[in-house]
Amino acid sequence: MGNPSLLILPGDGIGPEVMAQVRRIIGWYSDKRGLQFDVSEDLVGGSAYDAHGTPLTDETMATAQEADAVLLGAVGGPKYDDLDFSVKPERGLLRLRKEMDLFSNLRPAQCFDALADFSSLKKDVVAGLDIMIVRELTSGVYFGEPRGIHKEGNERVGINTQRYTESEIARVARSALELAGRRGNKVCSMEKANVMESGILWREVVTEIHDAEYPDVELSHMYADAGAMQLCRWPKQFDVIVTDNLFGDLLSDCAAMLTGSLGMLPSASLGAPMENGRPKALYEPVHGSAPDIAGQGKANPIACVLSFAMALRYSFDAGAEADRLEAAIEKVLAEGARTADLIGQDGVEPVSTSGMGDTILAALDASL
Ligand code: NAD
Repeated sequence: MGNPSLLILPGDGIGPEVMAQVRRIIGWYSDKRGLQFDVSEDLVGGSAYDAHGTPLTDETMATAQEADAVLLGAVGGPKYDDLDFSVKPERGLLRLRKEMDLFSNLRPAQCFDALADFSSLKKDVVAGLDIMIVRELTSGVYFGEPRGIHKEGNERVGINTQRYTESEIARVARSALELAGRRGNKVCSMEKANVMESGILWREVVTEIHDAEYPDVELSHMYADAGAMQLCRWPKQFDVIVTDNLFGDLLSDCAAMLTGSLGMLPSASLGAPMENGRPKALYEPVHGSAPDIAGQGKANPIACVLSFAMALRYSFDAGAEADRLEAAIEKVLAEGARTADLIGQDGVEPVSTSGMGDTILAALDASL
């Protein structure tokens, strides 16, 4: 077997700046750990529109379908605000997610001890927090039919439909239960089975998959509104949370913000296994292209670096190397390295994007 392939799509704004640091780290793994990837790089979003008149060419889409993993920076920016909806930068990202059928969106909420003061919650509630929200990404109320706005008598009516098939629920349930086996072995499934039929089916199917295939994982169920409350009250009670597209959208943003800055949050979107057993996979930071700081060397590269750590763990079977990278980040934060977004009241001098890259590489060297 050849080297695994990695397609890098830096995108727009701070995307290329943070991705440059990830490329240095990929280089480090190749030099120092013998982890070789066939890396290719291409355009997405506004940069692809500028070059080709489309936010994602068919050729790039085909490369993404073949790649063992895709790593994306960010797309968008004010320059593209007036473009037609069909060629807006975000359409490139949506096309990737849709055509790769990435149904399982993994959003970790991990609080590095050194940043616990950044949370809006008390330090002891969040310090050491490490939970994972698995959100169904390709179905549910954002896609269900019928949808639209129509007239009924004298007034307009807006309609969206929450719709889930058994197989759609089963595949994301498997994804969460499988993941829990590699972590704390606990899954909490969230829906609104008290008021929604789709929630009743969700609960039944998750339970069936659990009982038949993953009986050793501890499974619990919670109504999503109670779940939101518990996430703010005592988030450490959770390990993996699995939920639908709509509730996942809300709960994952809520959980992520427990941990502080947008510049720290990675994500993975996974699909069905390919022939080689690896899942289709797109890794990307949660943040956008941050046009307000683009080109100034201020962006925090950690969200993008942590997205690469997720790729090591979930696509490349290199969990120990992912641990190494996360420990290096923990170390540099504990030692006080801060990009501007992580500066609180204490007047610490911020490091630049590449300065943060330097410290992470030094911490990786020190780990050998
Ligand atoms: P944003 O995430 O780009 O920025 C929000 C705020 O967080 C800004 O003040 C920004 O400076 C800061 N920030 C974000 N990432 C940071 C980082 N790594 N380091 C330091 N600070 C960081 O969201 P926005 O301003 O609402 O959107 C800007 C553009 O990005 C828009 O065009 C939007 O459509 C696009 N966007 C893209 C994605 C994506 O590519 N996945 C996600 C969200 C928004």
